[in-house]
Amino acid sequence: MDKEDKLSEIQKKLRKEKQDQHLFNKTMVYALKYMSEIDNRKVYPSKEAINNLKLFDENLPDEPTSAEEVIDFLNTNGAPATTAIMGSRYFGFVNGGATPAGLCAKTLGTFWDQNTAMNVISPIAAKLEAVVEGWLNQVLNLPNETVAGFVSGTSTANFCGLAAARYRQLQNLGWNLNEEGLFDAPKLRIVTGKHAHSAILKAISLLGFGKNNIEWVEVDEQGRIIPEAIPTLDESSILILQAGNVNSGSFDPFEKICAKAKAEKAWIHIDGAFGLWAAAVDQLKYLTKGIELADSWAVDGHKTLNTPYDCGISLCKDEEAMISALHMQAAYIILSEERDGMFYTPEMSRRARIIELWATLKNLGQQGIDEMVFGLHQNAALFAKNIAKVDGFTVLNEVVFNQVIVKCNGDELTQQVMERIQKHGVCWVGGSTWFGEKVIRISICSWMTTEADILKTVASFESCLKEILSQD
Ligand SMILES: *Cc1c(COP(=O)(O)O)cnc(C)c1O
Repeated sequence: MDKEDKLSEIQKKLRKEKQDQHLFNKTMVYALKYMSEIDNRKVYPSKEAINNLKLFDENLPDEPTSAEEVIDFLNTNGAPATTAIMGSRYFGFVNGGATPAGLCAKTLGTFWDQNTAMNVISPIAAKLEAVVEGWLNQVLNLPNETVAGFVSGTSTANFCGLAAARYRQLQNLGWNLNEEGLFDAPKLRIVTGKHAHSAILKAISLLGFGKNNIEWVEVDEQGRIIPEAIPTLDESSILILQAGNVNSGSFDPFEKICAKAKAEKAWIHIDGAFGLWAAAVDQLKYLTKGIELADSWAVDGHKTLNTPYDCGISLCKDEEAMISALHMQAAYIILSEERDGMFYTPEMSRRARIIELWATLKNLGQQGIDEMVFGLHQNAALFAKNIAKVDGFTVLNEVVFNQVIVKCNGDELTQQVMERIQKHGVCWVGGSTWFGEKVIRISICSWMTTEADILKTVASFESCLKEILSQD
């Protein structure tokens, strides 16, 4: 710093904090302590911890607060109110854990604070995006020309894929969507299974298709689309399939569906939020056979791949459609000869989530991905096998991947048992409905879960059911 530099008060304060090694070290100490204790606490925060969150209800302070005080406050009052998603027995929703390499890369990348909009803004982020795009095509067995957009999650990735579909199908019908808009456009047909994820319905609403216009296709007892029930498609059609039913984990029979749908000139989009990774596993690949015939795919890093949160990938074989759907231009934009990330995402500025995605993939390698994802399946199968032996629980799905759905005798008892399990704190599981019945859904998504964790979880289920039955 030059001697004559004049600093504002806030600059002085922030500059001092930037040089405060103690502050940064303390933050790491908190983080590491959190990680080391995660398996010894209840999976869901205590009532007291949640109650303490009212300490955050304050007016925006007038005066600055020191960084150390901010971090201390966050650690003291925030950490206890986290769910132990970073532990080995969180089985709620379809929430993944994170690998050490992913966490460390994210931490380092946090200090870099790169914006991935354009190559010129961050050469390293642009390089990693280009490299990972190639890796993904290889590991998921997608066509070589497939391009990737690195977005916040599968909700956004579904939106991107369907936006590309809308652009291309209208273009084929002689309509330029970007210039003419939707109002007088030819009508597109949206065809999907009755078990499509709600994120698909959100994308359909956002894109102006209207949920009432969906042609719903009948599904079988596992939630898979019945190929024969798909209406004859045409060049105005967008067919939305699913790799991984959010309840049963089942996969649509792509092989039977895709070739015919392509011959009929439909665009095929696959929501593979957690299930698309089956394509990377030798023993599970059979589930995704035929996905390579689709046009666009959506998949998460933050579920079965175990990257840290906020990591989704939109994949599309039709680069022109993707870029046209997400296009933008301005005088100040500097394009590179290489890849500019913002052409593949709805956002312009984005954080560099590619850093942790790249690190996770490099850290695991093909073999590691195969073994980790197969391990999730094996643990799910083990849970299903053991819980089925406990009187009073019934497994309702074929456990083809990482999801298990179970019920007790009647909706009311199922609900009571689930709440008791949640309170018990050995694990955390959520509920759902399956063909009209209340169910408990177990999603095995973390690399950390072991056989011992599965057995502890089964024991918790068993004792919670017993406790409730003995109350009566
Ligand atoms: C989780 C999930 C989504 C939504 O993904 P986000 O990453 O939460 O946005 C969409 N489809 C399926 C099948 C999912 O499991």
